[in-house]
Amino acid sequence: MAQHTNDTNDALGTVPGLEALRSNAELRGPVEVGGQELHDHLALLYESRAEQFATAIPFVANGLERGERCVYIVEENDTEDVVDALRDAGVAVEDALDSGALEIQTAAESYLRNGAFDADEMIAFLEETIEDAAGEYAGVRITGEMTWAFGDESALEEVVEYEGKLNRVLPDADGTALCQYNREKFDPALLREIIETHPYLIYDRTVCRNVYYTPPPEFFGPDQPEREVDRKLDTLRERTEARVDLQDHHEHLQRQNEIAGAPDRSFEEKLQALFELGLERFDLELGAMARVDCERDRFEVEYVSDDHEYLEPGVELPLSETYCAAAADIRGASSVTNPEAEGYEDVVVYTEFGIQAYLGTYVEIEGGDDRTFFFVASDRHGSFSESKRTFLRMMGRWVKYELEHERRDRHQRRLYEIAADPNRSFEEKLEALFELGLDRLDLEFGVLTRIDSTTDTVEVEATSGDTDRLASGQELPLSETYCRLTDGAESTTAITDPVGLERTTYEQLGIETYLGTRIELEHGPDRTFFFAAGDSRERGFSDAERTFHHLMAQWVRYELERKHRTQELETSNEHLEQFAHAASHDLQEPLRMVTSYLQLLERRYEGALDEEGEEYLEFAVDGADRMREMINGLLAYSRVERQGNPLEPTDLEAVLEDVRADLALQIEEADAEVIVEELPRVMADRSQIRQVLQNLLSNALTYSEGSPRIRVSARKRGSERVVTVADDGIGIAPADQARIFAIFDRLHSRGEYAGSGLGLALCQRIVERHDGEIWVDSEPGEGSAFSFTLPAVPEA
Ligand code: ADP
Repeated sequence: MAQHTNDTNDALGTVPGLEALRSNAELRGPVEVGGQELHDHLALLYESRAEQFATAIPFVANGLERGERCVYIVEENDTEDVVDALRDAGVAVEDALDSGALEIQTAAESYLRNGAFDADEMIAFLEETIEDAAGEYAGVRITGEMTWAFGDESALEEVVEYEGKLNRVLPDADGTALCQYNREKFDPALLREIIETHPYLIYDRTVCRNVYYTPPPEFFGPDQPEREVDRKLDTLRERTEARVDLQDHHEHLQRQNEIAGAPDRSFEEKLQALFELGLERFDLELGAMARVDCERDRFEVEYVSDDHEYLEPGVELPLSETYCAAAADIRGASSVTNPEAEGYEDVVVYTEFGIQAYLGTYVEIEGGDDRTFFFVASDRHGSFSESKRTFLRMMGRWVKYELEHERRDRHQRRLYEIAADPNRSFEEKLEALFELGLDRLDLEFGVLTRIDSTTDTVEVEATSGDTDRLASGQELPLSETYCRLTDGAESTTAITDPVGLERTTYEQLGIETYLGTRIELEHGPDRTFFFAAGDSRERGFSDAERTFHHLMAQWVRYELERKHRTQELETSNEHLEQFAHAASHDLQEPLRMVTSYLQLLERRYEGALDEEGEEYLEFAVDGADRMREMINGLLAYSRVERQGNPLEPTDLEAVLEDVRADLALQIEEADAEVIVEELPRVMADRSQIRQVLQNLLSNALTYSEGSPRIRVSARKRGSERVVTVADDGIGIAPADQARIFAIFDRLHSRGEYAGSGLGLALCQRIVERHDGEIWVDSEPGEGSAFSFTLPAVPEA
């Protein structure tokens, strides 16, 4: 036919004439067109009329549909039988016969029209028919029942010759021929030759490309042709089936990947899609997943693809009463196709549920219940090919991946939640980490220890979980614990079966499984962070589990170091506060004396001093005032912690209104414009935060020239709020930006700008008390923006 180009790229392509056969649900198998030669020359080998018509009728029906001229040559069947069958297949037989599109001839009218069969004559007849149809029809399809040749030796020889010649004619002509051979009627020796002359065979409802099979020599003996025919047919069928299977496999695999990769589908949705894919692929009725426990002989249905009389989510059975026991036994894929013969005649799923066919696989889940993933049917089923089993195993692997991944994700998220929570103390975080680790690693208890190699001791610092064996504060010889093994180890150290290790701790404490990491610290003794259990652990620890543990240990390290830094800072702040407090207290007394004597001098000697004397006295009073200011500042500084109020939800806009009112005079004098954007509610000590805003606003007014523009704004930063006071004033050189926050540090003389150098130090101290930070962004001459953070009001 014209469209029969050699499409060798398409290894599994189809010959159009054969598509009809393919699209017939009765038939299996695509037709390979991999070779160079293409023929529309098929042999149908059948044993019953049902089998015969299952191919011959759609062959004709499809030809008519495509606008081809069809000729059916009857011999074994009556014309009426064929007409009825075609009508049943939906063909408008009368119309087709009237128009000439369909012709039903007898063998006497065709093959034998000259009395005896002549190969060349028949070929000529065929060529003529094809030629006549050209233009009017898309092609010609001929199918003939060959039983007329039965029993006639010379006719049979001619038939073989004819079939051979057809192979030369058809590839170049718009014609397709389907020769029908009844297996029962023909001699095996002839069938053998027939098989070899047809490029395509249809047998047992499978379309095969005829790959010539050479059986071993013993099959060539004179008595063997019948067996050889069987062998050839079987081999062809198997090859084709294997190919179909492989193609299905690829197709299904691709679909499985699509299903598994869909990012916005839930696990349940993906599972359902997978069940459906499996049902199609395995030709079974119900897909299901169950939780299983081999040791306790338990089986519980978790998901099913569809409603089922017995298999419903939540249904429990002893595992041994199910076919899943077979998959569980081998921890792999297994099938049941004949329950009685395979020893399942007494199990509940057979006797009560009536399930006859099973294909299932065992899925081991790290850190969770193992599962079986399986398909069943209430009817018997043939055996399952290896590629189907492979396919099932791949589905099982997907289930494993999804379940484990879901769990991993959940744990990972939890880890970050814990680590990032600003409201938890170190002890609370550690406790939460222990809990998480116990769940993730499926172990009994978690421990944090301090290591002292010089004295060979391990001191238990904190524990969690089922820890009768170890108590906080307990000391052990380092060399007799597994913790010694973590020394110098770059990542985690795992022990799952301590045979061969020094047995002291093992015996004393009965710890057989251990996963630990050494935490080296810059300040303070090293730690080990580990999880352990009394039982040995058969499957060891996976990479993911080790990584997770390592990550947890890193967080502990970070927290320990942070704790250390905070403690250090707190200590230094405390010292500073103590000093400020003491100094301001102690200085107040002598200052008071200086001040009162200066006042006495002023009063008593008013007018008695000369101009110079007056000036000296003025300096002295001024100095005392400044000193009082500084001492008061120091006092305020020392009181930030001691006399602070608890942090509570505070409306910054209201606070700023107060500050503005306080500074109204200064704002007016400077002719300043203060722009206040929307400000949030924060957790704060109201009077302290008022002090901060007042200092910043006051500085912004002070360190500006002309009519300053000051903007107060706020933004979100995680769980914090950043408040910024920006001016367009004189700015600060980068080199000076750090030191302006130190006590008494000033960049200007009092002559230039009044001030004590305490404002920003106080701001910093207050912000720190609020767990925040303060900083400045500035360029000389470009203005300054002071920002500080405060905790947001937690959501209800
Ligand atoms: P002071 O009492 O001197 O203002 P502060 O601690 O408030 O003490 O400020 C320290 C120094 O930082 C100031 O002396 C000034 O040099 C500089 N400074 C503070 N705020 C600003 C600002 N908005 N613009 C420029 N410089 C500033």
